[in-house]
Amino acid sequence: MFIINILRKIAITTRKSIKLLILMFLAAVVLIGLVVLFYNPTYEVSLNGEVVGYTSNKSELQEKINAYTQEDEENNIAFIQIDAMPTYKLCLLKKDVETNDDEIYAKVTENGTPYYKYYAITEGKKEKFYLSSFKDAEEVIEQLEEKDSANQDDLGIVEKYGKELKEFASVETCVSELYEKKVVVQSYSYSYAPASNYSTGSSSGNVSLGISLINPVSGIITSRFGSNDSVRDHSHSGLDIAAPYGTTIKAAASGTVTYSGNAGDGFGNYVIISHGNGVTTVYAHCSSLLVSAGQTVSQGEAIARVGSTGNSTGNHLHFEVRKNGVTLNPQYYTY
Ligand SMILES: [Zn+2]
Repeated sequence: MFIINILRKIAITTRKSIKLLILMFLAAVVLIGLVVLFYNPTYEVSLNGEVVGYTSNKSELQEKINAYTQEDEENNIAFIQIDAMPTYKLCLLKKDVETNDDEIYAKVTENGTPYYKYYAITEGKKEKFYLSSFKDAEEVIEQLEEKDSANQDDLGIVEKYGKELKEFASVETCVSELYEKKVVVQSYSYSYAPASNYSTGSSSGNVSLGISLINPVSGIITSRFGSNDSVRDHSHSGLDIAAPYGTTIKAAASGTVTYSGNAGDGFGNYVIISHGNGVTTVYAHCSSLLVSAGQTVSQGEAIARVGSTGNSTGNHLHFEVRKNGVTLNPQYYTY
């Protein structure tokens, strides 16, 4: 009997416990219901450690911020750098606490720095023009290649990033400004006769002159001996060296001046020096002559100045080397 009594007591206690548990569960359900009804999951938003507001649409706000920082090709914006990304902390606030997504967005983006992306057309290593799109830049290069611009091998496209947007040029402007005609080689009249019996083109070998020559001017070689082009129907009888107007021309070797003047033959003002053994050198298109016929000159002596007299389209020296009236390639002996 005693044992039965104990068992009954335990059973009663258990029943009471179950009732209590059910009660507690119901209370919890009611509490959660109240929370859902009156509270809303809200995020406290901080920027650089400072609370700037609250949002209940964390993902929507963050997406909007992300979109703001992203590439905007139409305005050449590569990306927008912002000081800091906001941080979020979950908190429970009463429903009547105001969220301020717009204010937060404004605060996050107020110090945004746009980084622009654009393209530079380069010539050599210099940036010449800026264009908005790669497509336009490519178009410029293509058009210049089609026109066979002299500088086409020096042109390039460089992608640029910067905080400042450059002024963009149009494709047409770039093409017309960058286009360079291929060097027009000066044309000469070949009716002149300072050495009428000479023939051009003994480039068959390195004929020994018996003397050594120095470069009469330093400059850029614009036309080589023997070259042909559309404006010349003979092959080129000398070497053209472009140099600034007035540059001193030196005697390539010592000798005697056999001609100094303007024969109206296309060479303009020119000098011929005889070096003995049938070797002569010719210096044409000079702006002024510093020696006269019969005068002896030493190697390196100033004999004339660079110009563009006679059949010439720019300041340059037309330099010839002749042996027994035959023009030889000056580059065998100089330059
Ligand atoms: Zn020439």
